[in-house]
Amino acid sequence: MSMPDAMPLPGVGEELKQAKEIEDAEKYSFMATVTKAPKKQIQFADDMQEFTKFPTKTGRRSLSRSISQSSTDSYSSAASYTDSSDDEVSPREKQQTNSKGSTNFCVKNIKQAEFGRREIEIAEQDMSALISLRKRAQGEKPLAGAKIVGCTHITAQTAVLIETLCALGAQCRWSACNIYSTQNEVAAALAEAGVAVFAWKGESEDDFWWCIDRCVNMDGWQANMILDDGGDLTHWVYKKYPNVFKKIRGIVEESVTGVHRLYQLSKAGKLCVPAMNVNDSVTKQKFDNLYCCRESILDGLKRTTDVMFGGKQVVVCGYGEVGKGCCAALKALGAIVYITEIDPICALQACMDGFRVVKLNEVIRQVDVVITCTGNKNVVTREHLDRMKNSCIVCNMGHSNTEIDVTSLRTPELTWERVRSQVDHVIWPDGKRVVLLAEGRLLNLSCSTVPTFVLSITATTQALALIELYNAPEGRYKQDVYLLPKKMDEYVASLHLPSFDAHLTELTDDQAKYLGLNKNGPFKPNYYRY
Ligand code: NAD
Repeated sequence: MSMPDAMPLPGVGEELKQAKEIEDAEKYSFMATVTKAPKKQIQFADDMQEFTKFPTKTGRRSLSRSISQSSTDSYSSAASYTDSSDDEVSPREKQQTNSKGSTNFCVKNIKQAEFGRREIEIAEQDMSALISLRKRAQGEKPLAGAKIVGCTHITAQTAVLIETLCALGAQCRWSACNIYSTQNEVAAALAEAGVAVFAWKGESEDDFWWCIDRCVNMDGWQANMILDDGGDLTHWVYKKYPNVFKKIRGIVEESVTGVHRLYQLSKAGKLCVPAMNVNDSVTKQKFDNLYCCRESILDGLKRTTDVMFGGKQVVVCGYGEVGKGCCAALKALGAIVYITEIDPICALQACMDGFRVVKLNEVIRQVDVVITCTGNKNVVTREHLDRMKNSCIVCNMGHSNTEIDVTSLRTPELTWERVRSQVDHVIWPDGKRVVLLAEGRLLNLSCSTVPTFVLSITATTQALALIELYNAPEGRYKQDVYLLPKKMDEYVASLHLPSFDAHLTELTDDQAKYLGLNKNGPFKPNYYRY
């Protein structure tokens, strides 16, 4: 396959337009909702346990993150064939050395490195943009001197990111943002390659903070960049090592939750370095919401129920990005799709796309599948559930488990029968069964995997955000939260085009003048809706 040139690497030494934080409170109002959702997370408050104290069993459970309960803002493929059972000794108790004699890591078992390397190589195949970025910028080494402390899922895909950062000149110390999502063999491969990684699958809460601390608190090494996913690392540095911020050039944050926290810090005047919100970059949003859901809705439904979609009647609540993705996939398989919407613009879009827009009440008795993707609460109520027909499948693709009123099903007259992992039959007194998937939590994150290509978009965006913040001349970024400059967003997309042998048309000088554009972009104003 020919590899058409991507656009020249922007950013380093180039004057870029600052894409300032979108002050529009409405844009983030849904974040406020999701952070209030009753998901259990590691506490982010002052009363957080000291990392040296051993947590109680209850404390540990209530403070831990699980993949199924975790936020949608970041993904882990989380497929690991080396589960925690290989021995019961805590990695913290083990003395391990990689083949070069380094002990500067803490993983489950360094001997698994070879398996992990294979996982990383498989991921690399669908992350050609990052590999291409590695090649393009390797000579330039735009991260030479960067000391990046990172806290993300530790999977084959993030390993490709970490190794890209190293290839571009950075030194990295890494911990996991989720106590369950680490692929142990991948962590071992990173440790074998010389990355200071502190993570394993099934960490306790105490381990979680210990690993973060080991990354930050190291004699003779001080981070100057932070890459965070969820805000826990940033929080730890704020609480324990505020002086570290004197050297930090910027924070790159990936998740909705972490970004929300950064905006809060910024509003309170407490953000002391520039931060880049990669969550809201256009390419990441489109891939996370529209394309990822288009790919994974069927996978999640099929893995759990073996349902055939042709001719099935499905109602999708919400025709936003996620809803559009789900509907496109369902329609393609021959399902008859109904939409519910509150917004006339999205409702009209659904009409133009050939879907019937209805109220849930109008179709609830006849549909075979109900899917929520509104980001709202109580969209499917007990009354709706009572009226569903036998064997109706109910699931949620929205952020929180509040879209379906699952709590209302926990009443004595209804029987719950667990038929498979993530599949419950809720049985009414007359024998009617409703098939509830993932207890109303995100179906695709609970029951399927996320395509590597989606993670490639995110990882490339993170890498470019780090390059931009690290190389930005003094004064370009203040102590505030920024979106990735549009031109970099475009660059992320352009790096992914060669995977499809896609050939971009170049503007002629005349055309560029006519449109008032620079031939190398940005091609759209910040307010453009893709
Ligand atoms: P969006 O705002 O583009 O779409 C949500 C739509 O739901 C809007 O058009 C809104 O008008 C509509 N809506 C709100 N309340 C409604 C109601 N009561 N009945 C019918 N429609 C209603 O948001 P999005 O990007 O599509 O995300 C939707 C949800 O999915 C969010 O919670 C988001 O966090 C989550 N999400 C999930 C995944 C995933 O992988 N499953 C990925 C990204 C985002």
